[in-house]
Order: sequence, then C-alpha cells, then structure tokens
Amino acid sequence: MNADELMALAKKERAVAVCPRCQALVCKGWESLPGGFDTSNLTRVGSLRDADDEDPTLEEYHPAGTSAWSADAPIALGWFPYNRCDVWQCAGCARPFLRYTEHGGYYTDERIRELQAHLIAPSAA
Ligand SMILES: [Zn+2]
Repeated sequence: MNADELMALAKKERAVAVCPRCQALVCKGWESLPGGFDTSNLTRVGSLRDADDEDPTLEEYHPAGTSAWSADAPIALGWFPYNRCDVWQCAGCARPFLRYTEHGGYYTDERIRELQAHLIAPSAA
C-alpha cells in the first residue's frame, strides 16, 4: 500500500460517530493494544512493509520535533515504525488503524495507532 492509497483510505467518509466495536481504541498516538480487546473486530486491509527490504530502518521521522509517542507525530512511510505496519479497519465502522509488533529484549508489545489523513507525510517515503 503506498501513500496515495493510504490517504484515500484515511479520507473515506464514515457514517458512524461512536462504534461499539472499536470505541475502546483511543489511540491518536501509538498505544499498546488494550488487554482484552477482541482483535476480530479489526480486518487487515493492507501493509506498509516493503517485501523486498529485509532490514527496514529503525530511524524515525520527526521534522517538527515530535516523538514516537506524540499524537501529532507524522505517519511517515518508509520510516520506523511505519515500515513495519499493517493497515487495519474496524469491521463495524471502517475506522482505519495501523498496527505493528514492538520486539523488546524480553517482551513483545502489540501497538496500534489510528490512521489520520492529516498526519500522513507522503514526501517522507
Ligand atoms: Zn468501529
């Protein structure tokens, strides 16, 4: 999935304001997937990973001084962690999300962030 496709998905109109299937997901910035959240409420619709890149960068893209956890951090394709993300949609209201798995030394953490069109940085790829 490229930046244009991602943008189109993010801008798609959605009728439901409050959706019972995904309202537990409050993640303007990256958050751990809430414990107990039923991931069958989400449908995988694409990937931002480059299948030909065996060692994607760990560098992040923060031209405005944001951090990885900022709610207004750019969604920068080709940069960490977006180069490891899959794209998901709520099965109820089609709200789009990004997900990847953080691998620490002794743990893995499922992380999720809502996909917001105005944060996608197409020029960063
Ligand atoms: Zn929903």
